[in-house]
Amino acid sequence: ISEQKVKEIVEQWAPITGTKIYMNLGEPGLIDKYKELPFDGIGLMRTEFIFTDMVGIHPMYLVKQNKGDILISRMAEGIAAVAQAIYPRPVVVRFSDFRTNEFRGLEGGDEVEPIENNPMIGWRGVSRYISPEYEEGFRLECRAIRKVREEYGLTNAWVMLPFVRNLWELDKVKAIMASEGLEQGGSLKVWIMAEVPSVVMLAEEFAKKVDGISIGSNDLTQLTLGVDRDSGILNRMGYFDEQDPAVLKAIEILIDAAHKYGKTCSICGQAPSLYPGFAEFLVRKGIDSMSVNPDTVAYTKRLVASVEQRLLLERAFGKQ
Ligand code: PEP
Ligand code: MG
Repeated sequence: ISEQKVKEIVEQWAPITGTKIYMNLGEPGLIDKYKELPFDGIGLMRTEFIFTDMVGIHPMYLVKQNKGDILISRMAEGIAAVAQAIYPRPVVVRFSDFRTNEFRGLEGGDEVEPIENNPMIGWRGVSRYISPEYEEGFRLECRAIRKVREEYGLTNAWVMLPFVRNLWELDKVKAIMASEGLEQGGSLKVWIMAEVPSVVMLAEEFAKKVDGISIGSNDLTQLTLGVDRDSGILNRMGYFDEQDPAVLKAIEILIDAAHKYGKTCSICGQAPSLYPGFAEFLVRKGIDSMSVNPDTVAYTKRLVASVEQRLLLERAFGKQ
């Protein structure tokens, strides 16, 4: 797609919205291709591509060989490229969210990763970062982000913790982050992903401890409904449904809890751009931002603008 074409699309499809539209990004090099799109920031920067394609070696394998600097510098370069390209808009960098079966695929992974029967609900996310078996790997991730913020001066790089399950692990991981110079406060925003129903049930307690909650609609749907997101048969039967009333209820609770404590609430995942009714639900409930894949940024922006307009008209003149 030519630059001219992109500009035309942006002009035509980029009205102003109150709800921020963020973009998901996994491959740092792609920021050049997408940077003209009408997004307000990167709401989910996945780091797994950096691990698989830019480093290729398991972090703990690197630690064992005293080669952690490789991960720090490549991860910092990748994040900095994105943060630089869209400065001063934020880049919400998600710490690695591989499952054990995926981590095993990296060089040296089979030596350091256990085999789990249910990796999807196994040693992933924060439980990994605070464990003696991965803490040093997590510290490398922290150092990479610190480098971006301090050496590159890109303080628009924020952090996001995936697969949070409970409050005590959140305290522990924040303490590790602080010891690596990533103390919450000032320009460093710390978001968590709401993917596990325990976060919904204690939403207010979590909201007090963080700057933002980002709803991971894929995992939240899976775990709220008890439906394996990768199960072909359950998907064909319509069980995996982000618009199931139970999921919508969970989302509502999260938005309200975040707002009660003056925190931001976002959603990452494709659902808002797949289903206009879902986007409308989110806007009506007051979600602050939606983060979607590059190919749906412009469309989602337009969709949200039309929903917001309708809402304003309704407020002014009542439902037509
Ligand atoms: C999610 O769970 O909705 C999410 C965005 O994370 P991932 O799809 O990477 O698990
Ligand atoms: Mg997830």
